[in-house]
Amino acid sequence: MRKIILWILTFGPFWVEAQSVQDHFEKIRNNNAMLTAFFAQMPKGADLHHHYSGSVYAETYFEEALKNNLFLNRETLEIKDTISSKDNQIIYSRLKDLESKGELDKYREQLMQKWSVWHYNPQQMAPEERFFNSFFGFSTLAKKFYATGLNEIRDRAKNEKCKYIECMFSAVRCNTPSKTPQTLLDSMALCFDSKDMKFVQHTLGRYWKYRNDSALKLAVNSYVSEIETMHKDLNIDDSIFTMRYQTYVVRTLNDPLSFTDNVLTCFSSAAKSPLIVGVNILAPEHDPNALKNYNYHMQVFNFCHKLFPEVSISLHAGELTLGLVKPEELNFHITDAINIGSAKRIGHGVDVAHETNRFELLNQMSEQNIAVEINLSSNEFILGVKGSDHPIGLYSNFGVPIVLSSDDAGVLRTNLTHQYVLLASRYPQFSYDDIKEINLNGIRYSFLEDDSKKRLLQELESEIREFEIRILNQTK
Ligand SMILES: [Zn+2]
Repeated sequence: MRKIILWILTFGPFWVEAQSVQDHFEKIRNNNAMLTAFFAQMPKGADLHHHYSGSVYAETYFEEALKNNLFLNRETLEIKDTISSKDNQIIYSRLKDLESKGELDKYREQLMQKWSVWHYNPQQMAPEERFFNSFFGFSTLAKKFYATGLNEIRDRAKNEKCKYIECMFSAVRCNTPSKTPQTLLDSMALCFDSKDMKFVQHTLGRYWKYRNDSALKLAVNSYVSEIETMHKDLNIDDSIFTMRYQTYVVRTLNDPLSFTDNVLTCFSSAAKSPLIVGVNILAPEHDPNALKNYNYHMQVFNFCHKLFPEVSISLHAGELTLGLVKPEELNFHITDAINIGSAKRIGHGVDVAHETNRFELLNQMSEQNIAVEINLSSNEFILGVKGSDHPIGLYSNFGVPIVLSSDDAGVLRTNLTHQYVLLASRYPQFSYDDIKEINLNGIRYSFLEDDSKKRLLQELESEIREFEIRILNQTK
């Protein structure tokens, strides 16, 4: 009896508050403006599926290009630092010259449309094409103005009360070929189409002995040093915000040897720096090269996982729909990303209902705590998947850990808060307590080291309690 009284005195007030917040939340569930006001104030654990260049808004890229008076190709809308005698000088203009002629607004609108889904016109381009093409438009600006971009991302996260971002920042490449003997390169070539796992793993082991050379070490050291210097110089972390990075390999490369080199370089970098907490694979999964080489890609991740077991892996997998690819392509990507690619988290996982062993897979994800990174705005725009077409309910029914993320907030013109609004307004089966668990999952399933994870989780829990008290005071 004494224990019960003690429990009531200690936890009773929190339980009453949480219960009242739940009641308030159900009252506002059908009002998106009120949900926005609610979730904007809610402390958020993390954004774990977050691409650096796609998270910066087009306005920022434009302002930087204008401030630095870069050249604009008025026909292709390509932006350049300098133009050479090889360029057709007539079609290039300095942005400030266009401004003084009163023509800048017209080009600004065109660039905004090219670099994001702003005023998207479905008559002109398919949504997936519009989305993925955006990156070609601003990629050089993203590299050049990374300080502005990262500051914007950090400041926005703080405004949204998000404590942690795991940012897919950049790829790391080793462009110097290894001194691998031709006979071994011939064996490597056979691996690209082989499903014989033993042969592929054995050959990759032999290849690594040659590839683990001074050129690769130089590429790794210089990449790690760049990331660490940038992170320190920009003072990214402080008492209320933490950022860590994932490096990644692009899955559309039609050169499996370069792909292998890039994955090996990624893992070597992540093993070397505590700031690089994971490795990913990205770019359109429906690309013909990505589909053709999927098995080989997963085999390389499998090899690297054995070589660097301390490096965490999250893989974009199942960002596909019926119609976008042949039905047979929908049957195995998530399963293979986990069982061959050794993924600890799955990015998107939209086609899970099509997987051949769907229920075994969902049970496995639940039992092994393999989280799915859900990106509602992204799936709606790129794939046209929303409402009951989205498998979020399926994952939840099987107890798969869910995290909510923004993917490319800049290109998609959204933010993390809006993902919570979409979740609450579209999926009434998720109670406030369920959404709170999804929020906490952002820290639980991050690739942070254990001490930081524990600290951030404790802070988040206490901030959520303060938020609930504040909400109740506002609604009185
Ligand atoms: Zn993504």
